[in-house]
Amino acid sequence: MEKKIVILGAGESGCGAAVLAKKLGFDVFVSDFGAIAEKYKQMLDEKGIAWEEKQHSEDIILSAGEVIKSPGIPNEAPIVVKIMDAGIPVISEIEFAGRYTKAKMICITGSNGKTTTTSLIYHIFREAGLNVGLAGNIGNSLALQVAEGDKDYYILELSSFQLDNMYEFRANVAVLMNITPDHLDRYGYNMQNYIDAKLRILQNQEPNDAFVFWDDDPIIREELPKYRHGKLYPFAESKHKDAAAYTEEEKLVFTEPMPFNMELEELSLTGKHNLYNSMAAGISANVAGIRKETIREALSTFAGVEHRLEKVAKVNGVEYINDSKATNVNSCWYALQSMKTKTILILGGKDKGNDYSEIADLVKEKCSGLIFLGADNSKLHTFFDGFGLPIADTSSMEDCVKAAYVMAKKGETVLLSPCCASFDLFKSYEDRGRQFKEHVCKL
Ligand code: ADP
Repeated sequence: MEKKIVILGAGESGCGAAVLAKKLGFDVFVSDFGAIAEKYKQMLDEKGIAWEEKQHSEDIILSAGEVIKSPGIPNEAPIVVKIMDAGIPVISEIEFAGRYTKAKMICITGSNGKTTTTSLIYHIFREAGLNVGLAGNIGNSLALQVAEGDKDYYILELSSFQLDNMYEFRANVAVLMNITPDHLDRYGYNMQNYIDAKLRILQNQEPNDAFVFWDDDPIIREELPKYRHGKLYPFAESKHKDAAAYTEEEKLVFTEPMPFNMELEELSLTGKHNLYNSMAAGISANVAGIRKETIREALSTFAGVEHRLEKVAKVNGVEYINDSKATNVNSCWYALQSMKTKTILILGGKDKGNDYSEIADLVKEKCSGLIFLGADNSKLHTFFDGFGLPIADTSSMEDCVKAAYVMAKKGETVLLSPCCASFDLFKSYEDRGRQFKEHVCKL
């Protein structure tokens, strides 16, 4: 009898996995505890794949030979606990799809900068004319692309949740941007659990693979000796002898495999964090053998990604910037750090165990006012009320943008960089960013 594969969660990754599994001849069943979006129902029906929504039929699920779990479903979900108790292997869609492709895998993880770096690497590979796919947390699922016409390279953005259920998968190029506290609510409020999940990017690397990482990150440095990894390609702001990329006299210098450099001002993305993202992307492309002229050109033409330090409009001499994707404290730190004028900072939302002391000095230095935007702003008040800054308390985007308009003086910047997840008031960070842009455009 053919092996039965059960897929939990019928979003982009689950449905992609279902299509690939069906194509490979497995007996496939898709189960989602919530409602399944119409487009995915259609996709499953077209391929003749059995599915259910708003329930988990345990008798069917527990008869699986293997379960592919969407990264959005926590391991503590009752159905996952039962599956694991029954000894059924639980894997991620990337692990599954990785078994059926010979493509080279360039995998990006980290607490911040994943989407930007992944998109930037994809942009360079496309500009180089390579047959490349974009997958993981962005684009179409890897499994769907493997099913529908394989590629030579995949650029994969991997969250810690995806890495949690990866075992045999091998990253030919692993990129680790940084590790700072995030998602602690899903790691038992234990930072080491989260760190361990991130370092899974290195599992199965062989000596001829590459590990690209931010050399100034204290956690990565401390963890590195514990792991087997490919050839090291560290990047750092200031020059040191092993760095594969660093800056020197207004230049971005790449040292290996192919040495070349470019002017910092040629980079299309600005801010210190984006310098790191450009370094990581440039090294990954360099390792893949892409010509230096192409890398240089692509790093200077990249258009940026929505909701990441995205300029929205200038109204009455005030610049409005949408950084809705800043869903943790560290990403807000980088956003604030890159501000060139006094700033009204909009922050708040669903707190993930945040410690705001990381941004305290920058708030004191750069901010002329704060706007709290959340269903419950009490933790923000406790931390920031003593700073002596004007504070507005809001719980809708409309009120928030109005408050910003009233508070901001000519020449200042209004920055939405919330440090928090969006789910208390919005569907997603994209929804939050779009609502921000809509209300700014109505000013
Ligand atoms: P991720 O996919 O890891 O969430 P993004 O590229 O979407 O990362 O960027 C999210 C936010 O994090 C951005 O709005 C920006 O403020 C900040 N950021 C981007 N790159 C970095 C980096 N290398 N280090 C720290 N913060 C960053």
